[in-house]
Amino acid sequence: MTASPLVSPSVLESVNPATLLPIGTVAITDHAGVAEAVGEAQSAQRAWKARSLADRSSLLRAVAAVLLDSVDEVAATVVAESGKPVVEAVTTEVFVALDNLSWLARNAGRVLGPERVPLRQAYVLQKRASLRYEPLGVVGIISPWNFPFSIPFTQAASAIAAGNAVVVKPSELTPHSGAWIEELFRRAGAPAGLVRVVQGDAVTGDALVGSPGISRVIFTGSGEVGRLVAERAARRLCPVTLELGGKDPMLVLAAADLDRAIEGALWGSFSNCGQICSGVERIYVEGDLYEPFAAGLAQRASELRLGAGENPQTDVGPLISERQRAKVEELITDAVSCGAEVLSGGARPDIDLPGWFHEPTVLAGEPPNARLRKEEIFGPVVTVCKIENAADGIRRANDSPYGLGASVWTKDRAVARETAAQLEAGSVWMNDVAYSYGTCQAPWGGRKGSGYGRTHSKHGLYDLSHVKYVDSDAGRLAPPWWFPYDERIAGGFQGVLKTLYSEGAGAKVGQAWRNRGGLVTVARRSLRRR
Ligand code: NAD
Repeated sequence: MTASPLVSPSVLESVNPATLLPIGTVAITDHAGVAEAVGEAQSAQRAWKARSLADRSSLLRAVAAVLLDSVDEVAATVVAESGKPVVEAVTTEVFVALDNLSWLARNAGRVLGPERVPLRQAYVLQKRASLRYEPLGVVGIISPWNFPFSIPFTQAASAIAAGNAVVVKPSELTPHSGAWIEELFRRAGAPAGLVRVVQGDAVTGDALVGSPGISRVIFTGSGEVGRLVAERAARRLCPVTLELGGKDPMLVLAAADLDRAIEGALWGSFSNCGQICSGVERIYVEGDLYEPFAAGLAQRASELRLGAGENPQTDVGPLISERQRAKVEELITDAVSCGAEVLSGGARPDIDLPGWFHEPTVLAGEPPNARLRKEEIFGPVVTVCKIENAADGIRRANDSPYGLGASVWTKDRAVARETAAQLEAGSVWMNDVAYSYGTCQAPWGGRKGSGYGRTHSKHGLYDLSHVKYVDSDAGRLAPPWWFPYDERIAGGFQGVLKTLYSEGAGAKVGQAWRNRGGLVTVARRSLRRR
């Protein structure tokens, strides 16, 4: 859970986690302000839902144009508030947002347009049916600080594409990054109130979840808070998408390209200072590859350049808060006391900045009693263990309360496919890690303690819609199952069942012959007019 940067009950202030210099304050939205934002969003949505799918795409294209013009400003805000390197602010924040807008603008109409439902059963042949995807209303989006722009932005854009309005509550640690979402839609000419941002900590988030005007909540954050949110929303039967923590395993199998696996592990474990829900936290390496892999990863980790995100030479920035760094230190100390060996890092770096830095740390072993065996670290720490074979790796990978992502590293595609099929995760990547958050046709989400529901892709759009079955029937024939009931029609239906659902053409013909009387009774009823 995040530490609160409240400076007063009505103001919060974010700081640069590398320099500890204040960035600025924002006013906290009180209960009345949340109600007002939700009310405005409801009004805007009533008009928005009547607009065509083409109109929705036009708005998303306009937002993309505004975002392209504002890349430097948005990236600078994100770097200042989160401490991440500028390359990551551009790639994992702005790039992801633009890919999402572009995919939605091109595909939301196709995904959410009417969808024919083929009706082939003899007793409904006279009907025509389709699915309609209708907007939910106002979607409440509660987000974390680790991707303070791309996570709430892509969720908001998807909700807008599906005809909803949104009210976003960014993390209290990164309020200015979140504020960009309302600003970009405003500059692109979105209807007033359609995209609102409210600011604050748990109190504001709780007010949003409890608001009767919210039709769905998308929560991204810790499992602990996710449970609270789901319980609160359940009281009024409000559906929730939960994007929670992860503890992603990386399986390096016999036919792996060792250099690629080391570089992939390095980025997967230490980009964003390890504060990635789908970051690599556990590495399992097969047989003889273990020694060179562990040595290579430790060496490369020690070469990463720590610094402020604003410096283009920085590979790894600081952690987001003192509290987050303290948790990382606690988990390392605990693991070492249980028998893990520090291969690289393990301490605060000697750096000329006051912020919350920690060395990229590689630990050998995951002792059974160590807390990090099950707990999400969410910092620049990764464990490396030797496994006997792929089956051993799969067993250890699945032995986790989480199931967000997993990766398999081998040149043998068949082994990778077979391994992927057995991993309990929402996404499995081969010779790569986590990239699919940025390819917006890929669904995003987890299983087990990593949550439920999906964002991005057609599945994300479906989760943001009511699916309605609508049929068309001229009403010339009366369904044979309508009143009145009697023995003949009951026997007739038994004959229909045996004929329709027996296996094989011969069996069906035999049943039809044996039950011909009943079939005629049902057919006569079907043909009567009402
Ligand atoms: P957090 O759970 O502390 O906070 C998340 C958000 O919830 C914040 O905006 C916070 O203000 C709000 N909040 C806190 N209490 C609330 C309450 N009672 N009611 C409503 N809202 C409340 O998480 P965090 O520290 O900001 O983020 C880190 C966590 O997020 C990690 O566990 C990480 O794995 C997870 N995460 C998951 C994904 C994913 O896609 N699965 C992506 C990014 C981060």
